[in-house]
Amino acid sequence: MSDSVDAIVVGAGPVGCAAAHALADRGARVVVVERMERGPASPFAVEWLHPSAADVLLRWGLVLPEGGHVRGTGVSMHLADEGHEPVVVPYRRGMRAVSMPHAELVDALRDSVVERPGVEVLTCARVTAATPDGTVRLTRDGQETRLRADLVVAADGRSSGVRRALFGHTPQTVVSHSAGVVLEGPGLPVYEFFQVASEVPGHGVAIYSIAPDAIRVVLDVPPTHPRPPALHAYLHRHFVPLMPEVLRRPLADALAAGRLTWSATGFRPRVHYGQGRLALVGDAVGHIHPILAAGTTLGIQDALSLAAHGSAEAYAREHAGAGAATGRVAMALYRLLSRQEPGTAQTARMAVDQLRLSPALRDAVGDLLTGDEPGAAHLPVVTAFSTMLGIPAQDIAAAYGPDAYLLSRR
Ligand SMILES: Cc1cc2nc3c(=O)[nH]c(=O)nc-3n(C[C@H](O)[C@H](O)[C@H](O)COP(=O)(O)OP(=O)(O)OC[C@H]3O[C@@H](n4cnc5c(N)ncnc54)[C@H](O)[C@@H]3O)c2cc1C
Repeated sequence: MSDSVDAIVVGAGPVGCAAAHALADRGARVVVVERMERGPASPFAVEWLHPSAADVLLRWGLVLPEGGHVRGTGVSMHLADEGHEPVVVPYRRGMRAVSMPHAELVDALRDSVVERPGVEVLTCARVTAATPDGTVRLTRDGQETRLRADLVVAADGRSSGVRRALFGHTPQTVVSHSAGVVLEGPGLPVYEFFQVASEVPGHGVAIYSIAPDAIRVVLDVPPTHPRPPALHAYLHRHFVPLMPEVLRRPLADALAAGRLTWSATGFRPRVHYGQGRLALVGDAVGHIHPILAAGTTLGIQDALSLAAHGSAEAYAREHAGAGAATGRVAMALYRLLSRQEPGTAQTARMAVDQLRLSPALRDAVGDLLTGDEPGAAHLPVVTAFSTMLGIPAQDIAAAYGPDAYLLSRR
């Protein structure tokens, strides 16, 4: 391996893989450095890829497990009260998501990069320093190596050491704990909609199929939840009634067997995009609550934008603020469905009803979830949520420049 290449990508998560493909598309020689040998860094995270992210990854050679994936058609949101019908938001233009188990997705993406001409992947290699002059230090097999490149891409995830070294400590705000469980077995329904449900206040559930015979259930639990031994009864009491009838027994069994994987969820504002020859992409920039399953879509947009701009400086200057609409809506929706405050139930019902009654709002949410480039088309949804939740419209509109600001005041 030469010690000087066009681009070095730190991290072979979904966004690092996307960055490697996007740069190789433009003829760059890329080295990807990943600390793991195989498999993801966390036990469960991205499993549902909205259509624009799914399409671009499929084009780059993501191989789907034979007969073992789901092509989702939209998102459904509902409050778990009796008689409150879900609101279904289909993706635009009939586009479809991809859903598959997290570990399989990460490995399949890495395989697509390994097979890509012009890209070299170093696994079991940990980056210990990356600087804006394009230098990267890494350790592998106890050896320290120094590489240089015109462009260094930090795709090292939400705990990014590169971001911390460059911009200091920006704490993430933890808003909840996610408990994930996979329900498997013959006869379970296939969920082609990513479902978000809530029993207001305080507890949310996401349900989606990750294979024809496997359903991922994610319980969103306030961080104040009781610890064992009281935890099991608490989860049972709050979450089993939220589930569709057919999933209540399987979830109760999974809770009793302790088959849960926990992850802290929250957000870190997307503020720093890079400096000098060094660019940040994906969760390394910042992250949002996974309620919309949009983190990877945002990260892939970063990767595409970086490759299109051709330099870290142009990308950091021009791309800053992109994805703000998705982030705001995810945050607003999360607050809507999970606030433990008086009046939350009523606010949530109003918002869901508004979504049900307004085709324009549904279209705007559908665009946003499909993963189209953020822009003025998303303002109706951002503005509607912001008004209901008291987030100033200007804060949201500011991300889109003067024209968007005017639109937001209509
Ligand atoms: C519970 C949960 C569920 C989620 N569900 C979804 C979903 O369904 N759909 C969706 O789109 N998003 C989802 N997200 C968000 C999604 O997981 C992230 O947005 C996405 O993983 C970001 O990808 P990334 O490549 O930026 O970072 P990561 O996936 O974190 O990858 C970072 C990579 O960098 C490597 N690395 C780190 N440090 C170093 C180093 N020093 N040297 C070398 N390698 C290093 C790591 O090993 C890892 O492979 C979810 C998040 C959570 C918490």
